[in-house]
Amino acid sequence: MKKHNFYAGPSILPGFTMEKTVEAIKDFAGTGLSLMEISHRSKEFVAVMEQAQALVKELLQVPEGYSVLFLQGGASLQFYMVPCNLLNKKAAYLNTGSWASKAIKEAKLVGEVVEVASSKNANFNYIPKEYNIPADAEYLHITTNNTIFGTEILKDPDVAVPLVADMSSDVFSRPVDVSKYNLIYAGAQKNLGPSGATLVIVKNEALGKVERTVPTILDYKIHIDNESMFNTPSTLAVYGCLQTLIWLKEQGGVEAMEKINIQKAGILYDELDRNKFFVPTVPNTEDRSRMNVTFVMAPEYVELEKEFNDFASSRGMLGLKGHRSVGGFRASIYNAMPAASVQALVDCMKEFAKMK
Ligand SMILES: *Cc1c(COP(=O)(O)O)cnc(C)c1O
Repeated sequence: MKKHNFYAGPSILPGFTMEKTVEAIKDFAGTGLSLMEISHRSKEFVAVMEQAQALVKELLQVPEGYSVLFLQGGASLQFYMVPCNLLNKKAAYLNTGSWASKAIKEAKLVGEVVEVASSKNANFNYIPKEYNIPADAEYLHITTNNTIFGTEILKDPDVAVPLVADMSSDVFSRPVDVSKYNLIYAGAQKNLGPSGATLVIVKNEALGKVERTVPTILDYKIHIDNESMFNTPSTLAVYGCLQTLIWLKEQGGVEAMEKINIQKAGILYDELDRNKFFVPTVPNTEDRSRMNVTFVMAPEYVELEKEFNDFASSRGMLGLKGHRSVGGFRASIYNAMPAASVQALVDCMKEFAKMK
């Protein structure tokens, strides 16, 4: 039976990424060695790193004066590394979910943090729009896609301070104006590649301004000066990211991806709004994530939750269970998810409704 992969992360990747990575595990770039057993300083791997960095710049139209790094430690390490390098006195944070809250917690270890707004009172089911940013804040930190709660900031906010963003679960799903950001980070395992690599795009000028001593391994400048090879990078994960970037370019880049993503998410939200058995957890249509579609059974049908889950599983739908803090269901429909799988889920919901 065909499997439809709705896992939130690690999650679906293009078949192309898998095939190319399998090939390289057996014989990497004609070396006769496995990708897993060759030096990261070999010319073959250095070429992988350089090509991956160049493709990130090309696909996101990264302006001059920015560096691209592939680090380790996940987005979770960035929660601390970002303020350690960029927060001298004060930073502003928008609290839109669990990951944003974790970023705030780490930043508080470093300096003054102003939480400009929070949607916690409504279990993070919307994106706050009205907030004031202190004029002396060094940056505003946002989480563009809230993987757990199914909300997304779909437009780069217009604010008077530079932005910093956790784009772990929506990077490359649409164009972004990188010039508004001092730093963008993303754990690879949602939209980009295997777990183990973390993409960082940082404005060089923003670095070197804090008064504290930054530990060597946490210092972006050290990683930039060493071409993202200060320590051994996660070679396999970086290789996987490169293959996804090549695939992305072939699909027409982030503009084409955005069109497809709007269409894919639209099919699913339309059904959720139509089918009386289900309710999307995010009421405002403009805040709904195109990557993680969260929904629950309608109040009068809550007792059918397990039955629907079993019904969907029996049709090859995997990973639909919602995060424990929201309950219900979550369909993660990242870049690599084919529209046909989204349609299969919609058909499954329609049939379930008919059966009842
Ligand atoms: C998954 C996720 C994280 C955590 O990433 P790790 O790489 O596991 O540290 C952080 N932020 C967002 C938005 C996520 O989706």
